[in-house]
Amino acid sequence: MNKGKKLYEGKAKIIYSTNDKYLVVQHFKDDATAFNNLKKTKVEGKGVLNNRISECILTNLEQCGIKTHFVKRLNMREQLIKRVDIIPIEFIVRNIASGSLTKRLGISDGTVLEKPLLEYCLKNDELQDPLISKEHIFNFDWATKSEIEEIDKITLRINDILVGLFRGIGIKLVDFKIEYGKAWNKNENEILLADEISPDTCRLWDIKTEKKLDKDRFRKDLGNIIEGYQEVARRLGIMPEISNIKEINFNKSSSIKFKKK
Ligand code: 5GP
Repeated sequence: MNKGKKLYEGKAKIIYSTNDKYLVVQHFKDDATAFNNLKKTKVEGKGVLNNRISECILTNLEQCGIKTHFVKRLNMREQLIKRVDIIPIEFIVRNIASGSLTKRLGISDGTVLEKPLLEYCLKNDELQDPLISKEHIFNFDWATKSEIEEIDKITLRINDILVGLFRGIGIKLVDFKIEYGKAWNKNENEILLADEISPDTCRLWDIKTEKKLDKDRFRKDLGNIIEGYQEVARRLGIMPEISNIKEINFNKSSSIKFKKK
């Protein structure tokens, strides 16, 4: 598989072409951004961890029958994925109120929701990914009714699987954002789960202490960002292979210290 030219560069990832028109390379960067790019930094080792964590989660989902873009991991920072046309909607699932939901509706942070709450946001950085309704989606042709019906079902199934997967390793899945794409290979004629699922795109709280193990460590200046991601990787059982990253000290994984809030 030959890596070709850069097709797209986002805030946390770069997509490269390959010599197969149906496949592309997804490269995970160390860049961390928040608040519509107003806050930026490099978190050394984040790209490596997200590559491995996302691989692990998407592989688990595939095993449960969810169709994803993931083909295989190529190296520490890159994975081979199916080329898709991304549907321009961020699908957000919330199990516990946090983040923008608490600000928008005045719901207390940490309120357990009676059932998972599905939200849709337009993928548009300039507009700061505004919340939209299904009526907006259909009116502006961002997706069809049958596509959204199918995606809603898959999204809730993904939530069920991930809540269980994380509960098994002592983590509460508070909320997450996912994206879908339409496969370029029209023979597949499929909607695939795309992008990534990682601590960049989820809120993950330790079950006992409610310590944040996700990008909120960066957003809220809680410190020890990489240690949060590292802890998620360690609990998922994927730490040994990334022991050559200098910022990650495995011997210290049992003594991770979090700055007090
Ligand atoms: P909120 O709407 O509360 O800011 O985010 C809800 C969930 O979706 C959080 O887990 C958050 O990390 C994720 N999320 C929402 N929008 C984005 C985005 O543009 N980029 C990333 N990486 N995650 C997002």
